[in-house]
Amino acid sequence: MSSTLITGIGQLVSCDGSGPDGLGIRTGHALIVEAGRIVWLGPAGSAPAADHGIDCAGATVTPGFVDTHTHLVFAGDRADEFAARMTGQRYDGGGIGRTVAATRAADDDQLRRLTAERVRAAREQGSTTLEIKSGYGLDSGQEVRLLRIAAEFTPETTFLGGHVVPAEYAGDRAGYVDLVRGAMLTAAAPHARWIDVFCEPNSPHAFTADEARAILEAGAAAGLGLRVHGNQLGPGPGVQLAVELGAASVDHCTHLSDTDVAALADAREQTVATLLPGVEFATRSPYPDGARLLAAGVTVALASDCNPGTCHSSSMPFMIALAVRELGLSPAQALLAATVGGARALRRSDIGRIVVGGRADLAVIDAPSYLHLAYRPGMALTRALQI
Ligand SMILES: [Zn+2]
Repeated sequence: MSSTLITGIGQLVSCDGSGPDGLGIRTGHALIVEAGRIVWLGPAGSAPAADHGIDCAGATVTPGFVDTHTHLVFAGDRADEFAARMTGQRYDGGGIGRTVAATRAADDDQLRRLTAERVRAAREQGSTTLEIKSGYGLDSGQEVRLLRIAAEFTPETTFLGGHVVPAEYAGDRAGYVDLVRGAMLTAAAPHARWIDVFCEPNSPHAFTADEARAILEAGAAAGLGLRVHGNQLGPGPGVQLAVELGAASVDHCTHLSDTDVAALADAREQTVATLLPGVEFATRSPYPDGARLLAAGVTVALASDCNPGTCHSSSMPFMIALAVRELGLSPAQALLAATVGGARALRRSDIGRIVVGGRADLAVIDAPSYLHLAYRPGMALTRALQI
């Protein structure tokens, strides 16, 4: 079996939970990788021989970023909505229908090419694991098509038939919920690991608690893990529903009551609060209070929510910078949320940390320390290294 020795690592940030901040920082260390797994980690001077070598030339190495929330399979452009919001228009989820129309009209090759470009862009920013949702098809055939394309790029595929009620069902919400939890789920489930729903009574386009519950319970019965878009636009039932149903993650968590925070803290081993600050940035909305969640003991992840409407960025270094500047996370907490926190939100123990036995999914940062992720926002310092 071929082995690769990685040397020249300036600061190795393992995120293995050790040390005062959990970052497990080491200097002068090297790694050996075989078949995509780390098989040796130790002082560079005592590294055994390997077949190949990679010299990081003094760069910082962290776990590759685990982006647990993306909507990368879509066509069309909504830059005009962004411009309108920047001059005062409020976001309510209504623009998703435009992306549904453009995505339905695109052929497979177009969608595959667009998705490949977006995956490449995410890797260029250091992401090594991407969750990808459907949700711009909203009929059985289209949702399956989007999931099949997503599955060409990641095993972490999520069925999001419960994204919004499509225009053709505007007068028959109950009929659409029945379709999502019935025939559409049956068609989609073989192509998905997860099911998600946009539970947001504050949007006329998204789903109430009862509708979301019906969709999620059907998904669980079909063998899918649960994820929830919740508490984005205002206070709502998403967090409580996610915790009650044992979801792996509830995403956004922007508007939380003390009861919501306490429920997430009690469920810290099971349900992760995933924060998506790129959305608040691009919709000019109040940010979630990450420091409040961490102080309560909640497990927190950070993701991009890359999508054409509310955050057209897959840059995890940008999300880390926002988390530090706007959510009250320390630089260490933000890096942990973007790596091991994401792994928790996908219920994975093989990613998000640099440990022997784990996947050799790395982010290489051309800087003397991980602090530069937040310290130098917008700079092209980081790239993924997957062996
Ligand atoms: Zn989303």
